[in-house]
Amino acid sequence: MADLQIGSLTAAPGVKTFGENVFDVGGAPYRLPMWLVNGASDGPTLVVSAGVHAAEYASIAAALELGRSLDAHHLHGRVVVVPVMNLASFTARSIYVSPLDGKNLNRVFPGDPAGTASQQLAHWVFHHIIARADYYIDLHGGDLIEALVPFTIFFRSGTARVDDASLELARTFAIPYIVSSETAGATFSAASKAGVPSILAEAGGQGIWTREHVSQLTTGIQRVLRHLNMIDGPAPAPLPSTVIEHFLWLRSEHDGCWYPAVGVGAEVRKGEDLGQVLDYEGRVLQRAISPADGRVLFIVTSLAINNTDPLLAVGA
Ligand SMILES: [Zn+2]
Repeated sequence: MADLQIGSLTAAPGVKTFGENVFDVGGAPYRLPMWLVNGASDGPTLVVSAGVHAAEYASIAAALELGRSLDAHHLHGRVVVVPVMNLASFTARSIYVSPLDGKNLNRVFPGDPAGTASQQLAHWVFHHIIARADYYIDLHGGDLIEALVPFTIFFRSGTARVDDASLELARTFAIPYIVSSETAGATFSAASKAGVPSILAEAGGQGIWTREHVSQLTTGIQRVLRHLNMIDGPAPAPLPSTVIEHFLWLRSEHDGCWYPAVGVGAEVRKGEDLGQVLDYEGRVLQRAISPADGRVLFIVTSLAINNTDPLLAVGA
């Protein structure tokens, strides 16, 4: 058994450490809080992060609860919890992008040490934490202006060992919808490309964090910990899940007002009218037409809409 060391923080075997790593991002010191939980006996290393999108509160509340509750004495292996990766966005209550550089942190992984603040942050986290994991789970939800049906996402990297293990993680997490995503620059896709099986789990939204959504995420992680034999207890029974191969996003082509015609979770048919973007006078600028038969897994709920903003996504 060895010490667990990340940056300037250390946890001896059987010890849980909470602290901040401080490093330079965008020319200024950046403080990143985290738990290092070093089990008293051997096992895999699991990394759990949240707050990449810093107004997805159920996911952040779940990561905080996980870090506070984990017990190093009864852990086999190591867990690193980064509860609010995008701390600058969290304190600013900023949606989608970082106030430091206007970039979406979940599109710049694995980062760039010579890039902007978000790219440098991603690079530090990826190389000091994520790349050293055996498994990685990134917690998300709907942002302040988004509602969604809970789902997990995994990335097909093309390496069967990694992709099978990622899908296994998603099935163990036991949220009924599993989405196969090709998003580049995301936490989980960069990790999968680097050989670390990983998923992104989404629950909650619209700035609200309910007990139900926090529990859905913490329960998923507890199931994974038992499945990996990192905590004692019976292996969780598999629950039925549906793998969605196509996640089809519709985006606004105008600035204006967004009037959805369907609610989140609605079953829709190809060609169905899903909503309209209107100008202030009431003229139709754009109709959102369903590109396939499927289910609306995610929808923007703000009346204000900008050119290129997402409107909704259909899982097909
Ligand atoms: Zn997110």
